[in-house]
Amino acid sequence: MTKRFDGTRDVRRAVERLARRLPEPLEDLAWISYNYLWSWTPGGAELFTAIDDHRFTLAGENPVRFLLNLPERDLLRAATDQDYLTSLDRVARRMEADLARPSTRVTAAGPVAFLCAEFAVHQSLPVYSGGLGVLAGDYLKESSDQALDVVGLGLLYRRGYLHQRMDRSGWQHEYWVEANTGQLPVVRVRGADGQPVKVKVPVWDSELTAQVWRVNVGRTTLFLLDTELKENTPLQRWVTSRLYEGSHDIRLAQYALLGIGGVRALDAMGIAPGLFHMNEGHPALASLEVAAQTASQLTGERPDLTRLLAINQDRFAFTTHTPVPAGNETYSSQEFFRVLGHSIDEMGIDRDQLAALTRIDATSSDEPLGFSPLAIRCSRSTNGVSRRHGEVAREMWRPLFSDRSTADVPISYVTNGVHLPTWMSPTMRELLSRFLGHDWERHAHDANMWSHVDEIPDIDLWDARCKMRLHLVEMVRARIVVDRLARGEDVDLAVSGLDAFDPTLLTLGFARRLATYKRLDLLFHNIDRLRDIIDHELGAQFIIAGKAHPLDNEAKTVAQNMFSVNRQMDLLNRVIFLEDYDMRVAPSLVAGCDVWLNLPRPPMEASGTSGMKAAMNGSLNLSVLDGWWSEGYNGQNGWAIDGSTLDDPREQDERDANALYDLLENEVKPMFFARDSNGIPVVWLSRIRASLRSLAPMYSSARMVEDYNERIYRHQH
Ligand SMILES: *Cc1c(COP(=O)(O)O)cnc(C)c1O
Repeated sequence: MTKRFDGTRDVRRAVERLARRLPEPLEDLAWISYNYLWSWTPGGAELFTAIDDHRFTLAGENPVRFLLNLPERDLLRAATDQDYLTSLDRVARRMEADLARPSTRVTAAGPVAFLCAEFAVHQSLPVYSGGLGVLAGDYLKESSDQALDVVGLGLLYRRGYLHQRMDRSGWQHEYWVEANTGQLPVVRVRGADGQPVKVKVPVWDSELTAQVWRVNVGRTTLFLLDTELKENTPLQRWVTSRLYEGSHDIRLAQYALLGIGGVRALDAMGIAPGLFHMNEGHPALASLEVAAQTASQLTGERPDLTRLLAINQDRFAFTTHTPVPAGNETYSSQEFFRVLGHSIDEMGIDRDQLAALTRIDATSSDEPLGFSPLAIRCSRSTNGVSRRHGEVAREMWRPLFSDRSTADVPISYVTNGVHLPTWMSPTMRELLSRFLGHDWERHAHDANMWSHVDEIPDIDLWDARCKMRLHLVEMVRARIVVDRLARGEDVDLAVSGLDAFDPTLLTLGFARRLATYKRLDLLFHNIDRLRDIIDHELGAQFIIAGKAHPLDNEAKTVAQNMFSVNRQMDLLNRVIFLEDYDMRVAPSLVAGCDVWLNLPRPPMEASGTSGMKAAMNGSLNLSVLDGWWSEGYNGQNGWAIDGSTLDDPREQDERDANALYDLLENEVKPMFFARDSNGIPVVWLSRIRASLRSLAPMYSSARMVEDYNERIYRHQH
């Protein structure tokens, strides 16, 4: 077996370096800090918050940065606190035991390499934007929990994704914050010679060089490529600067690095994947590098590209997440080859043959080029991310399979799921461990186990819900004051935010990417009806959040309109726009809301996952029957709005908005405020139990990863 230089040794050195700064009794904190497993191990976060909660928040909840900047006296205090040391020992032994389990091979040939443009592992690692990244992060964590042989591969964006700041008119402005790799739990991978492992990919007219970083996500390793190197030009260094950069040139360079560079990096580290799982089309160029490697090993005449891809087809699986053709990025052939031409020539691949494989109609010469057609053609399996999305994807990609009817298009689905230990609030976890029995989290996919939620007494369930709502209200109050001051509002208005929200009112949340199809503004469709719902002795309050892509002026206008309507309504402390929606706020938001809204224009929502996170916490979904909800809703576990489509979008908005108001007025509010003599909403709680029972076992990443194993990875054609 060839020796692996996969960064294991480099992580050990980084841990030793950090450990030397710590008093001896705290040494375990060093390796714990370099493995994100702490973030989903019970008691893990408390190891840091117990030393200094405030500083840990200021450090972005990044334990390496936190420990490096902690005053000596705080460390010494913890090192002599017996209770603290007992907790540390308990968490450390638990993590050690988890990491010591033997791995299970997923494919006989080698590990699964999971390639994705973004990973949301933790808020302190800013290489994600939204749903796609959350899915990828949850997938890695679940693979670790199931001890599967998986590695992740992505890019280390130094400035990550945008931060959002609204001005007083409601117009979005963006800023970026540069990460300091020296204080992140990421470690540069070095080779046998002790030098950093580097890969080269020709992009534009010269070689782009990248180094490789290793991140431990439990037992799973995530490798991230980055071009911040002195041998690169400023343009080349910019390639891994920001996620979802607007420029096509930069994006193509990023995807060349992810796909081609990714395969080369794994190779350089001695890792030979049995399967490449391409999560969305961005890494599809990986197939070309694998084809080129095959060609170099064959003797005799070189097969053409189609043949080479066919030889390797069994090594690729593709998951598509985008239900609209326009959402699958495409490029003019000029752009495409200006950036990638060198690489493609160097790999000995014919440009015209490649262009044909990236078009829906392979015989066209003017259709723009895209990665999804290539990914579908080079993979043995393509899947969508919910049952309905599977149908939509079959219809959408049918032209690639000219001789088939839609039903026969070979695109299946695996519905998304969420990593329960990441997304369930400590309050809910604590409640469930009292009633679901020991080790319940290891049986997250077991419907029988979840039936025990029926045994949770009303009072305990309601107390937990109220606690989560209160926690959210407190977070909103603190943030809204700062948000308002930062956008230059009057101090009076800003400070009135401290009285914003009432912890006893029906609280609804609506946080999504600000893309027009998500219809964040649908709530404001009829301001009089909305006002009646809110301004009532049995009232309601709304939290809205979401970022628009910097170039999406249409979405920014939607946000601006919401701001001005909200001002007109003059109930500013009842409808709050929370800025900068990301993984820092998402957990409290999904847990604290009583109702989680989703109002996409069907059938554009491929899956959606935030509603699953809400359900795990006993929040109830009210959603259009699209994406995951069209299979999750069973009549008793939340509320649904018709998911059929109308040709006229305005008519559709009118219909759906009225359905929303009707449900809120006639069902949701009366049920929430119907209380027994102890003030408990008994019917509401039975709906929560129905939601937990039916949704928790189905929409956890435990079920999702098992599905990938059984139906996608192991499935033989
Ligand atoms: C879960 C999550 C998402 C995905 O939400 P959708 O329901 O797919 O819209 C996006 N952003 C953050 C920060 C999340 O936590």
